[in-house]
Amino acid sequence: MGATLDFGKNKGKQMCELDVGYLTWLACYTLVGTHMVTNLDNTWLVQNKLHVIYRARKELIKRRICYHCHRVLPVIGRDRVNGSQNYDDWLSRLLHIKCVKALS
Ligand SMILES: [Zn+2]
Repeated sequence: MGATLDFGKNKGKQMCELDVGYLTWLACYTLVGTHMVTNLDNTWLVQNKLHVIYRARKELIKRRICYHCHRVLPVIGRDRVNGSQNYDDWLSRLLHIKCVKALS
């Protein structure tokens, strides 16, 4: 925690200071339809900055930002009794329901 980026246009900044677009790029994510897929086209990042990719992903999840509209997601009971780790649940944490529908 607290480490700053040592490359790129946001060099010297911490994860919490970065905008969503840049974080999404750092996390190597691309939205294809309603699927958030890993985009490994940026081989330089993958080969040299894997730890940064993981940190960017953690930051995006921590901020609860919708990948489609880039707005903050409402807090859903993350301690739901029947909370599961299945795919639908995972998707609902990354996109607004209406954004999922808009993309379908
Ligand atoms: Zn949204």
